[in-house]
Amino acid sequence: MTQVIDPTMPPYTDEEVTPLKPAVQPEQLQHRHLREGEFWREIPAYKEVDEATFLDHIWQGKNSVTHPDKLLETIKGLAPAAFVDDVRDGFAKAPMSLRVSPYMIACIDWQDPYRDPIRTQFIPVGSRLSPDHPMLKLDSLHEQEDAPVPGLTHRYVDKALFLPLDTCPVYCRFCTRSYAVGLDTEQVEKVQLGVNPKRWAKAFKYIASRPELEDIVVSGGDTYQLAPRNIRQIGETLLKMDNIRRIRFATKGPAVMPMKILTHGDWTDALCEMAELARSMGKEVALHTHFNNPSEITWITQKAIQLLISRGVYIRNQSVLIRGVNDDPETMRLLVKRLGHIGVHPYYVYMHDMVAGVEDLRTRVQTALDIEKYVRGSTAGFNTPTFVCDAPGGGGKRDVHSFEYYDRDNGIAVYVAPSVKPGQMFMYFDPIKSLSPEAQARWQDPVTREEMMDEARRKAMDAAR
Ligand SMILES: *Cc1c(COP(=O)(O)O)cnc(C)c1O
Ligand code: SF4
Repeated sequence: MTQVIDPTMPPYTDEEVTPLKPAVQPEQLQHRHLREGEFWREIPAYKEVDEATFLDHIWQGKNSVTHPDKLLETIKGLAPAAFVDDVRDGFAKAPMSLRVSPYMIACIDWQDPYRDPIRTQFIPVGSRLSPDHPMLKLDSLHEQEDAPVPGLTHRYVDKALFLPLDTCPVYCRFCTRSYAVGLDTEQVEKVQLGVNPKRWAKAFKYIASRPELEDIVVSGGDTYQLAPRNIRQIGETLLKMDNIRRIRFATKGPAVMPMKILTHGDWTDALCEMAELARSMGKEVALHTHFNNPSEITWITQKAIQLLISRGVYIRNQSVLIRGVNDDPETMRLLVKRLGHIGVHPYYVYMHDMVAGVEDLRTRVQTALDIEKYVRGSTAGFNTPTFVCDAPGGGGKRDVHSFEYYDRDNGIAVYVAPSVKPGQMFMYFDPIKSLSPEAQARWQDPVTREEMMDEARRKAMDAAR
């Protein structure tokens, strides 16, 4: 039962308090207004779907949209036919597989699919794709170069990234791991990282052999796809190692299929048991998730997150700054506040990685600087995310503000990472289309291109001195 507060009753005083500024009206506190009810029934294919069915994670998986024809069938009549043709075109050109859950389909505003932030993340349209930046590579973070065992990246001293599998509940267009995640597409043949106990055993052996390792990020793919026994196996194996103090299970799940937490009891139990086991040992198992836009958070999300919180699971969020999804200050502020409201801790906002086929989704470093300035101060400091750039070339995450030099005209930011790769420099490039026509022309010429980068390195070196 909600307790109703009566401001005339003790412990409130009846003395007059002179307000210094007007109270904010509840209807303006938009972050608290989550989508309610059976909103999915607005989608033609889900018109007759009741709550129990829609919340069933197996139904969600089975009815995920993996092909433009299925999309057409699902949203029949909602979006113009020209849009679906555009999707067909985008699908043929994109490096990622298509997989969109009914939950996501129901969260998209089909009146305006071109501008919808969820459509933008998961469904490519041919007409909006931009040519790649000349400096762009498929594994831009060099995760494979820092991998002593396939699927285990040991870049930082005390933490490592373990990829136990390569499937996800959805496929994101902007995925950093498009070198491995998803099925082969017309554009890319993937590195294979399937569920493979032999490969896992090698990773565990390496982790146990390195005293300096304390923290393991279990990612993927996506840990939503791990069977409960695999969650337990990975969790228990790692927690038993003396050196390991912290584990994070990373999943986009809560953002794209929150109902699984409510209806796949065994999966949720496995995660909660691992968190409990960790606590009993003075260690930590946390869930790291990935919301990008406030419209991904509905009453179902809140209910799922509340369940995890009530069982003691700590949840952090890592967003990606994406053009048309959250690259304006007000949307980001709303996202951060809404996450805080449901009990998820906003941890990072990443610059979009320099991966192939998604040039239309990237933003400038300057955009991140501007948004950070706006968000900071709007809520608790510990709920204010750090804006980072995972430096291409394997420098690791850097605070976006910490560049040694930023050439805004040519869109080159130069970072150093003394504790990760001392003595090296790392560059992030603003999207070509965000530059002036003159600067775009400079990038087209290979000689000028090298000169621009040399100059940026030189200036960064001077600045660092
Ligand atoms: C992001 C990442 C980590 C974890 O870094 P935090 O800053 O602690 O979140 C670990 N290893 C790799 C390779 C990573 O990319
Ligand atoms: S869920 Fe994560 S790993 Fe999977 S496609 Fe999306 S960003 Fe990539």
